Amino acid sequence: MVKIIDIEFLGTKSAIACFLIDSGDGLILIETGPSTVYDNIKINLKKEGYDIEEVKHVFVTHIHLDHSGGAWRFAENGAQIYVHPEGANHLINPKKLIESATKIYGDKMDMLWGKINGINKNNVKSVEHKEIIKIGNTTIKSIHTPGHANHHIAWKINNSIFTGDVAGAKIKNGPVLPACPPPEVDLEKWYKSLELIIQEKADILYLTHYGKSTDVLNHISEMKNILKNWADWIKEKKSRYDNIEDLTNAFNDYVYDYLKNKHRLDENLIDQYYAANPPYMSVSGLIRYWEKSN
Ligand SMILES: [Zn+2]
Repeated sequence: MVKIIDIEFLGTKSAIACFLIDSGDGLILIETGPSTVYDNIKINLKKEGYDIEEVKHVFVTHIHLDHSGGAWRFAENGAQIYVHPEGANHLINPKKLIESATKIYGDKMDMLWGKINGINKNNVKSVEHKEIIKIGNTTIKSIHTPGHANHHIAWKINNSIFTGDVAGAKIKNGPVLPACPPPEVDLEKWYKSLELIIQEKADILYLTHYGKSTDVLNHISEMKNILKNWADWIKEKKSRYDNIEDLTNAFNDYVYDYLKNKHRLDENLIDQYYAANPPYMSVSGLIRYWEKSN
């Protein structure tokens, strides 16, 4: 049984999730959100009849702060944190991670992510591609899925895959949208990772942004299309604007129009999408991708 927990990031509902599984041998949490939402998670677990200190295993899809910025708090309670080998050192010593996030978020760092402490290396477990981990009555398979970031893992349990950011965001009845932040976006890797997800023949995708998606093949195909669409848009437009601010504004308008006029989303749902993945991040991520691939 998977319980979806709304961490209510910045007070916004259905933008960022974490997932609770009772293994019969300690609680498993997939994703943690940033440390600022630790108390929200605690309250949610209480409602389910659990104490947050019963969380003994934390699986993070990748080390971006909206997914695992708060993992250190669970490690302080004695939890093992399972992560991609390329992410492990950044959990142990988050200095570079903080520097690179500060480039994107500037003086909003603290408001968004709160405190980011290092994790004792004994509490960090690197997981290889296709490694199988058994905890209590739960079997978890790792699927290395680079593209959004090199250190990305999708976690498979039974017929479900917890996709982090590899399968994009889909909130309620809205469309699938990718997040393409710098510095590691790589389209070729990303398409291959989406093929890996298809090959796993799952019935359910659990999206960190946000919740369950059950029409798996259509979901993945929508994701491939929009990823290509965004990447092509940036490739074509980047030379037409003198500066990144104008390009970013134009891209924001483009995404807003897609959500508002093509998909008829109300303002509240659009806000939820923007809280989950502000489109501006994808502009610099995709510019960087095209500069690297030329
Ligand atoms: Zn994310």
